[in-house]
Amino acid sequence: MENHPKITVVGSINMDLVTLTDKLPEMGETITGKQFKMNPGGKGANQAVAAARLGAQVKIIGCVGRDSFGENLLQHLQSEGIDVSNVEPVTDSTGTALITVYNNDNNIIVVPGANNHVTASFVETKRDIIADSDILILQLEIPLEGVQKAVEVAKENNVTVILNPAPITELPAGLIEQIDYLTPNEHEHSLLIKGMNEQQIKEKVIVTKGSRGVSLYKGDEEITIPSFRVNAIDTTGAGDSFNGGLAVALGRGLSLPDACKFGNAAAALSTLKLGAQTGMPGKEEVETMIK
Ligand code: ADP
Repeated sequence: MENHPKITVVGSINMDLVTLTDKLPEMGETITGKQFKMNPGGKGANQAVAAARLGAQVKIIGCVGRDSFGENLLQHLQSEGIDVSNVEPVTDSTGTALITVYNNDNNIIVVPGANNHVTASFVETKRDIIADSDILILQLEIPLEGVQKAVEVAKENNVTVILNPAPITELPAGLIEQIDYLTPNEHEHSLLIKGMNEQQIKEKVIVTKGSRGVSLYKGDEEITIPSFRVNAIDTTGAGDSFNGGLAVALGRGLSLPDACKFGNAAAALSTLKLGAQTGMPGKEEVETMIK
């Protein structure tokens, strides 16, 4: 069993700019907010941090801008033990998410910026990194052509592929065919399966269901792997933690149901602190929880 599987993430790297406010401005109005925070984010980076904390050897492939957010985010990822030598600086702004938290809810504007430069031709230059991995993790915050190229290279080299289809978009049938595991949440699931046949759904789909855990098929039977009961404080990034945990566990040779249990534990623990990456647990914490 490989304790430190080689996991490559091809995906987004963002700075989350979070404003807490008691009131929302009208168009043309200026108001005073309550608090402001910057948190490292982007689903790709979140997945990479989740997997690295759980003991994997993680490389991330992506792009940042030549700006201070880009520099900060690379330093941060490096401090998590992630190999960032395949993140290229480009002439664009680093990806940002402008998040307004109001009345226990939020609205978000994502500006992909540099993430849009993760094209098929860019990913092609990183072929050897993908080929040398045990597991490839992807989401949909980079151009679809970049995702397609990464999957193509992975499949040529027998690398297991996990795609978290978020934000959901229509996926080409040929792409779905090549992916080993798709991990939609319930909202994404209902849209995703419109493009899939029954056999593909049974073989590839793991649905995350928040505090209810995940469901998947074992042969023809739908089974649930329950979540762990916690007093969740912030579920931002819970899905990313699940995917990181699932990847590490599969890379360590666990069965799919056991890998989902490991992912559920990682995700549950991650909800105990504010922020996507802040609360992501280490391997020992997860192992204690699943004992
Ligand atoms: P997303 O964050 O992508 O919308 P979910 O809300 O389905 O995805 O959460 C992903 C996973 O995180 C769940 O399958 C579960 O393992 C874990 N999780 C989410 N919310 C909770 C919670 N309140 N308690 C325990 N585990 C949770």
